[in-house]
Amino acid sequence: MFDSNNVAIIGTGYVGLVTGACLSEFGLNVICVDSDISKISLLNNNIIPFYEPELKQLVEKNRAAQRLSFTSDIKEAIDQSTVVFIAVGTPPQEDGSADLNYVLNAAKSIADCMNEYKLIVIKSTVPVGTCKRVKELVSNILKERNVRVEFDIASNPEFLREGSAIRDFMHPDRIVIGFENERAKNILKDIYNVLYLIDVPFVFTNLETAEMIKYASNAFLATKISFINEIANLCDEVGADVHDVAKAMGMDGRIGKYFLHPGPGFGGSCLPKDTRALLDIGKNFGAEMRLIKAVIEVNESQWKRLLEKMRSFLGEFQNKIITVLGLSFKPNTDDIRESPAMKFISYLIQEGAYVQVYDPVSIKNAAMLFSDNSRITFCADEYEAAKNADAIAILTEWNQFRHLDLNKIKTLMKDKYFFDYRNVYEPEDVKKCGFIYYGVGRK
Ligand code: NAD
Repeated sequence: MFDSNNVAIIGTGYVGLVTGACLSEFGLNVICVDSDISKISLLNNNIIPFYEPELKQLVEKNRAAQRLSFTSDIKEAIDQSTVVFIAVGTPPQEDGSADLNYVLNAAKSIADCMNEYKLIVIKSTVPVGTCKRVKELVSNILKERNVRVEFDIASNPEFLREGSAIRDFMHPDRIVIGFENERAKNILKDIYNVLYLIDVPFVFTNLETAEMIKYASNAFLATKISFINEIANLCDEVGADVHDVAKAMGMDGRIGKYFLHPGPGFGGSCLPKDTRALLDIGKNFGAEMRLIKAVIEVNESQWKRLLEKMRSFLGEFQNKIITVLGLSFKPNTDDIRESPAMKFISYLIQEGAYVQVYDPVSIKNAAMLFSDNSRITFCADEYEAAKNADAIAILTEWNQFRHLDLNKIKTLMKDKYFFDYRNVYEPEDVKKCGFIYYGVGRK
């Protein structure tokens, strides 16, 4: 019988840190490792390196209870743990394939220092076959070291959403566990016992299937978004209202109401990279992913289409002042990776516009990317961002943008164009305030 109470998590990003904090909240002893020393030093001072609601309280509470600790010394973490989760990044490479170097390096570090049984759990999103590759790598290193210890590999993909990560982890729709033997299965069942007891559904399957489930799920979500964006674009042309179309479609239990919100396209650190990686996996195995290819194409043209819509109202962008509300790829996160708002802003600047930007939490991240650019101004609030603007565009549906003082905004602006790229307003309400309104697929 192995002690599954002691857990190490490698990588303290959005997934690793949330996993560590939540497992310690379940009562396990968790040690989180990151190769980024500055991150570890922030965490050791109760400072969360990124924005995620409720995470700070959870980290503080479990550190105080001495169930959660942080280190940059991987040996220290491995020595005191039986279960080791790998939750490092798997960013896209130039050709769209997932960069597995971080995962393989983490696996190598484990193999370099393990001296007794470990269960290595891959939580990062990895192409089918990676668990087996990690198993081979670890076996080879142990052989080279002439160390005879047993270990198991399991796959446990993560489905949390940034912005609601704690709730998603604590109340998941399902837990997926890919395993090779009963020992690994039982340890992971033990780890997630709290969720098992509250009837969260568990899917136990083989390693390859677990790896595939994650890509198939993300690709399907991306498909829903590209689908509704195409329908919205058609609604634009034929005078239909996509809001009502999506609502009525969603009432059909076979379709479901989620992920049917038109906008500037999907972004973030998961859907764009995972759809591209799935294309690459298909290519490698001779199974062309034609549908996913189309989903990506639609997504890549969507933000450009919305920009062209803006140009059709404003004329050329040269010296126009555009207010952009929202930088993150979705609300309640400061993650600007592959955010449509960032692509929008870069394009507007390149076309000679001045951009006045406000976001409740992402300005610091964006400011690092646009450091010396005099054409972008980061503002203290929505109203400062609206001053003298020719047009205002909502790119992220933060709740606070749903209740703007439209009359005040109108008075502050030079012209009256309102681009509601997240469809958060009723068109008539905005028009009543004297704006020319454009929503996505609704007039
Ligand atoms: P992230 O980039 O926020 O964090 C990764 C962390 O791993 C970084 O802090 C980095 O310093 C650390 N790291 C890299 N190599 C290391 C090593 N060898 N040793 C120790 N630390 C190391 O990544 P993320 O967004 O948390 O994503 C992690 C994985 O989870 C990815 O595969 C991603 O696709 C998947 N995932 C992400 C989300 C999400 O919403 N972010 C959701 C589900 C799944």
